[in-house]
Amino acid sequence: MGQHILLVDDTPTVRFKYEVLLKKAGFEVDSANGARQALTLLNPDHDFDLVITDLKMPEMDGFGLVKEIRDTSRLSMLPVLMLTGSEDERDLLDNLDAGVSDYLLKSCGEPELMARVRNLLRMKKLQDELTRASQTDSLTQLANRRFGVDLLADEIERARRYDRNLSVVIIDIDHFKKVNDTLGHHSGDEVLISVAAALRKTSRKSDCVIRWGGEEFLFVFPETDAVEAAAIVNRLRRHLESHPVTVTANEGTAVPVTVSGGVAQLCADDTLEVLVDRADQALYQAKEAGRNRLRTWVDGEVVPV
Ligand code: GH3
Ligand code: MG
Ligand code: MG
Repeated sequence: MGQHILLVDDTPTVRFKYEVLLKKAGFEVDSANGARQALTLLNPDHDFDLVITDLKMPEMDGFGLVKEIRDTSRLSMLPVLMLTGSEDERDLLDNLDAGVSDYLLKSCGEPELMARVRNLLRMKKLQDELTRASQTDSLTQLANRRFGVDLLADEIERARRYDRNLSVVIIDIDHFKKVNDTLGHHSGDEVLISVAAALRKTSRKSDCVIRWGGEEFLFVFPETDAVEAAAIVNRLRRHLESHPVTVTANEGTAVPVTVSGGVAQLCADDTLEVLVDRADQALYQAKEAGRNRLRTWVDGEVVPV
């Protein structure tokens, strides 16, 4: 998909001119007639890569827009190009101080404008790649634990705000050390990659799968109670049980893999730590009971599923 630009100017003819120019260059463009409309469009459902804004606008000017953008953590890295008629040095300095990424006069030629746009978009792309890398576990390509904690914290907040269910399931591969010990670390890695892929397939789009530790994974199921979450993960458990992983590192050896899991549902005042700890207690009981099974934490008790 092409990169997405938000164009902000109170003058319709100016918006039209730049919109045509940017669309001709292959960018996806949305426009706003002022800072307020721009802030409405900059909601979490839209992914913009660059904002190009006028400075002098009624109600709220470009300077105010830049400050709002920089004060919003979700948008703090979004490049903003100010395209203005103002040659006043004070405006230039104030806007640079407020965090504008580039400042350009409307009298500049189109080639310069497009070159600056391409530059800002190139940096945004690199920034996005770095962000993604910092959130991803490099072996399994799942969310890493640091990002997973943020995801779970957001989901807990959302569940509270809208009074919705939320469940988590910790999965741990059974006797995984034996795979490493008998087939080697490379084969162990292949098993982890394969299990991670199966986990990702199991999770619906809005569910998150996190590599929580070495051979431990955490499922986050928004709007799902413990019974539903357990049913989903039990299906996965049975699938893994009946599909050994073929590892290339050992001439196609089929490695039987089973997992154990602990389920917990968010209760009224649970912190993230309490919720995960309950799932952990349930996992421990699943291991104690013989592995390749799930257990659920319910009202202070751990019960079979
Ligand atoms: P249990 O059924 O009780 O969970 O036994 P287990 O052997 O799975 O558990 P244990 O915690 O004793 O061993 C986990 C092993 O996972 C030890 C560690 O070397 C291995 N491990 C952790 N991360 C990785 C990894 O990235 N790659 C490989 N190959 N092994 C890993
Ligand atoms: Mg294990
Ligand atoms: Mg473990």
